[in-house]
Amino acid sequence: MDNYDIRSNKINEKEKEFENVLRPLSFKSFSGQDKIVENLRVFVQAARLRIEALDHVLLHGPPGLGKTTLSSIIANELNVGFKITSGPVLDKPGDLAGVLTSLERNDVLFIDEIHRLSPVVEEYLYSAMEDYRIDIMIDKGPSARSIQIQLEPFTLVGATTRSGLLTSPLRARFGINLHLEYYDIKTLTAIVKRSAAILDIPCDNTAALEIASRSRGTPRICNALLRRVRDFAQVKGSGTIDKEIACFALEALNIDKYGLDEIDNKILLTIIDKFDGGPVGLTTIATALGEDSGTIEEVYEPFLIKEGFLKRTPRGREVTPLAYSHLGRLRPAQQGTLF
Ligand code: ADP
Repeated sequence: MDNYDIRSNKINEKEKEFENVLRPLSFKSFSGQDKIVENLRVFVQAARLRIEALDHVLLHGPPGLGKTTLSSIIANELNVGFKITSGPVLDKPGDLAGVLTSLERNDVLFIDEIHRLSPVVEEYLYSAMEDYRIDIMIDKGPSARSIQIQLEPFTLVGATTRSGLLTSPLRARFGINLHLEYYDIKTLTAIVKRSAAILDIPCDNTAALEIASRSRGTPRICNALLRRVRDFAQVKGSGTIDKEIACFALEALNIDKYGLDEIDNKILLTIIDKFDGGPVGLTTIATALGEDSGTIEEVYEPFLIKEGFLKRTPRGREVTPLAYSHLGRLRPAQQGTLF
């Protein structure tokens, strides 16, 4: 089985369904991100007291950390309707107008991958966010005219993994701007246990801890791993997930003990093998990998830095001794000692 599938952000319908079952519905059942949740609780309560739409919210951070989940919780806690769409889906201004006019008073509209909105659609979004109105051009040629559509007040929750790609006018229109962080192992262990209970899978504490520690700080990954480990427990074990079967399954799935994925390891190996461990510039690494430098910087690098595999120095990126030992490579200094 290919571990890349598990970690891929391109999840299929079945996985989506599975994610929806496990999605916390209230602030109370959402673990971690304490500061963000604490602030959001206050803002939501204040909006409810004033019977107003909540300010627009921008959620940014790597994939799978709970941006979609938090936005649906915001709608639940506000007790308003929730509509979900994404940047690439809103292809034309008419698509945006269709979604906006379907909103009821104070509803929440979630736009995922908001950095991928086309510039024209983004332009229309400005007046919608600011004045709750849009001016739409109808007809073409001499009979073309603009009509103004008044909208109900609404809250836009925008999510992005690439906040660096947001234009400043769009960013400035969000009153609440929140960055989601990777989760610690304790919180992820609690998430694994919660998910196991919902799915009615017997899973002991040490096994939950093992799955959590290999989940790259990401709830989506810990839930996906739990599901795969369950398959192993049912086929090769007694049905119960204990540490032994969890380790066996995770080894079989090629998940290393730090939970690094294929691209994480590729980034580290490229710096070690092609650039003597660095320092090397981000764009050079990106070119060598055939990846986008912004994606490396915003999606992959933060976890590698947080876990101590990579350093940002004024002269570029540099791998740490931990990266060498993790990948079974000798550091240049160690190589010297062999002769
Ligand atoms: P994102 O929108 O940031 O890519 P999602 O909100 O879709 O991430 O979360 C992915 C999965 O992880 C969902 O199934 C959700 O149930 C789970 N999840 C995310 N954050 C949490 C959390 N704090 N507590 C419990 N489960 C979570």
